[in-house]
Amino acid sequence: MEADIVLKNGLILTMDEGFNFHEKADLAIKDSKIIDISPQTKYKGKKTIEARGKLLMPGLINCHTHAAMAMMRGLADDMAFETWWHDFIFPIEKRLLDPDFIRVGAGLAAIEMIKSGTTTFNDMYFFEDVAAETCRQVGIRSYLGETVMSAETPDKKTPDEALKLIEEMKEKWRDDPIVHLTVAPHAPYSCDEAALKKSKQLSDRLDLPLHIHIAETAGEVEAFKATHGGSTPVEYLASTGFLSEKVIAVHCVHLSRHDIELLKKHDVKVAHCQESNMKLAVGSAPIVEIQNEGIVVGLGTDGAASNNNLDMFDEMDSAAKFHKATHADPTVMPAKTVVKMATRDGARLLGRSDLGSLAIGQTADVIIVGLNRPHLVPLYNIYSNLVYSAGGGDVDTAIINGKLIMENRKMLTVDEGEIIDRANHLAKKIEREVKHA
Ligand SMILES: [Zn+2]
Repeated sequence: MEADIVLKNGLILTMDEGFNFHEKADLAIKDSKIIDISPQTKYKGKKTIEARGKLLMPGLINCHTHAAMAMMRGLADDMAFETWWHDFIFPIEKRLLDPDFIRVGAGLAAIEMIKSGTTTFNDMYFFEDVAAETCRQVGIRSYLGETVMSAETPDKKTPDEALKLIEEMKEKWRDDPIVHLTVAPHAPYSCDEAALKKSKQLSDRLDLPLHIHIAETAGEVEAFKATHGGSTPVEYLASTGFLSEKVIAVHCVHLSRHDIELLKKHDVKVAHCQESNMKLAVGSAPIVEIQNEGIVVGLGTDGAASNNNLDMFDEMDSAAKFHKATHADPTVMPAKTVVKMATRDGARLLGRSDLGSLAIGQTADVIIVGLNRPHLVPLYNIYSNLVYSAGGGDVDTAIINGKLIMENRKMLTVDEGEIIDRANHLAKKIEREVKHA
């Protein structure tokens, strides 16, 4: 019996409901699916990869980023959120974003993500039609949401134009296995009631996730309350009928007890971006309290301009440690929970029960992590090693939708060196523009 790819003799961390772990097993893939996990598979692979001493696990799911912002990595650091956003990032985006910027930035980000173990990412940015072509070529699974704002954006004059693009893209990529769409109103403070309402309607009509930043800074929440009769952003969204199980609420740093109850009541999912929150010093998201309510929380890097990388291993490490520190309690946010957030819970956040775990019938988004390295030895607890010791550079191989995308750290779909050269070239132009601004 023939499979497309057989991974031999690996340790297999399934991240399934029972957290099953195989000390030594084979995993067989045909078309886009896992067709066997067993000690000695009967399937012969057209391609066989020896994984002795290596770990097979579900590809990581980055629940929130702005991929093309990889081009703004290190451009504006160590400054207050308002300065960072109003004086640097948004003006640069308005002046410099064009299709070529997105091709280079999203290409760079996609390669960085694959090389650090991410196989799916949830994006909110501009020119998402260009990003779709780029991500398809690289071979990463993408959820793309053209940013909806009441004000003019770098590529769209009105919210209607952004929503129209999503509708057109949904039609264009209808049968594509790895390009997926979301509706992405930027935030309650940057979208008026009509923009939020139209976004919600499109999400309902096309059955797409609704991706939105909520309550990132204290100032944002205070200003919102002052102009909305004392309602918090979450209370306002609940009262307008916006909240539902499709909503992916990003950040959720400044929530009241009542806000958390509302998120639970409407089965809203939360994307937690710990490193971005720390770097911009926006506060401490009550993620432990949110999880205690049974709300699904995934992890995201946010854009590289506020992180400054897209490495989900870093994100796991930071999330695990930060909440221990702020709660003065080393038992909160255990490593096992954090790995679940980066895999199975991320898949739930996107409404994908076929991703985020390894089992027969699941979609084959699989990574291979090298374990025979000084910082990963000895191996007593795989979750601890993944969260506290491993880094994205330990990922050797990535398979997405049953296709081998990276093998032994070499990208098989695109020329990595060429994209890095183009990024360095574009960076010179960005630097000149920033200096002359
Ligand atoms: Zn963001």
